[in-house]
Amino acid sequence: MTQLEKAKRGVTTEEVKKVALEEGVDVETVRSRVAAGKIVIPANKNRKSKIVGIGKGLRTKINASIGTSTDIADILMEVEKAKVAEQHGADTLMDLSVGGDVRGIRRAIMEAINLPIGTVPLYEAFAIAIEKYGAAVDMPEELLWDVLETQCEEGVAFMAIHCGINLMTIERLKKQGYRYGGLVSKGGSYLTAWMLHNNKENPLYEKFDRVVEILKKHDVVLSLGNGFRAGAIHDSTDRVQIQELIINCELAEIGRNMGCQTMVEGPGHIPIDEIEANVLLEKKMSGGSPFYMLGPITTDIAPGYDHITSAIGAALSSAYGADFICYVTPAEHLGLPFPEDVKQGVITARIAAYIGDMVKLKKRDRDKEMSIARRDLDWHKQFELAIAKDEAVRIRSERQPSAEDSCTMCGQFCASRILKGMFDNEIRNGGKC
Ligand code: SF4
Repeated sequence: MTQLEKAKRGVTTEEVKKVALEEGVDVETVRSRVAAGKIVIPANKNRKSKIVGIGKGLRTKINASIGTSTDIADILMEVEKAKVAEQHGADTLMDLSVGGDVRGIRRAIMEAINLPIGTVPLYEAFAIAIEKYGAAVDMPEELLWDVLETQCEEGVAFMAIHCGINLMTIERLKKQGYRYGGLVSKGGSYLTAWMLHNNKENPLYEKFDRVVEILKKHDVVLSLGNGFRAGAIHDSTDRVQIQELIINCELAEIGRNMGCQTMVEGPGHIPIDEIEANVLLEKKMSGGSPFYMLGPITTDIAPGYDHITSAIGAALSSAYGADFICYVTPAEHLGLPFPEDVKQGVITARIAAYIGDMVKLKKRDRDKEMSIARRDLDWHKQFELAIAKDEAVRIRSERQPSAEDSCTMCGQFCASRILKGMFDNEIRNGGKC
């Protein structure tokens, strides 16, 4: 049985207890939300990994995506990137490798870290098809099912599967006209090409029951992929994106009713005034399935800083109710990320998720502690509370102040030092403390 099926029967699993303890949420609340499909716990039966809950009332989680390309396929670097992501606080990791020994790379990553691992199985299927048959469009359908089964057996915890693309969504794309940014999802583009070339319906949509049954057997979370996500600001929230979202939300409900843990993926590139609507649509149409936002990137014009453009989108998404955020690295749109890019991406996404949670969960105690530590010039405490402690320590230690308790920003004009001891430190709650 899956976590969802057990929860529906009133069983409180060890995983539910761990999530409740970790999040400081009542155990019964977590169980009932798992039963309702509002929380998922990626915990494939075939691999032990860190237990992470994603969904309503829980801290916004962040995913780091790594993986080889056909241009750079260095297994050691991918393992290093996985370790960097785990070390800097990613909650999950997706291996999106398409170059080199894809299966071997995934296995090496799984051995190296303890995070739940996600994949896009279409990538491996198309990579094998190109190698064996010369072209992705020549992929035999059975290959896709084999890859799904194998990845589940290996212990993949969640899978982004593009079930929501069908002939109707392709027709919608044709009717609305092609896009400013085209299609930017590898899975979405290749699957569309496969369908058009073979003049066939998407097997992942047509045989959705089969997808669910395979994933259910191993309790893999089905993440309904956003193959037609907008990859440009001027394409956001267009008809084809919403068409796919509607289908994915329908499928999320069907999958959930069949006992499979499901979540829905969202775009992509969105201006900040459309983020709330995107979250609202997903939540209402799916019946509260966890929403996995890919960024979103909030402007197209800052290559090199897309970890920042996406952090702005991620903070707002989380504040409006998104549950899971895929990080973006500074290398986005430019090249394959290196380990330092992964580090920057993870830290930036964690900050964004935390800012979102300050609104969504009203958790602001850590900020209060930091304010007091700053006022009192308690540097040790400030570093303890910092999301990226090492960076904070590095910057301060490179700039030795003349007075030990202040810093070189204001030097002798330290505003905190001059008033230290002149007020008692008792906080009175007449204001809003
Ligand atoms: S020197 Fe300025 S920036 Fe530094 S701790 Fe004092 S008030 Fe803050």
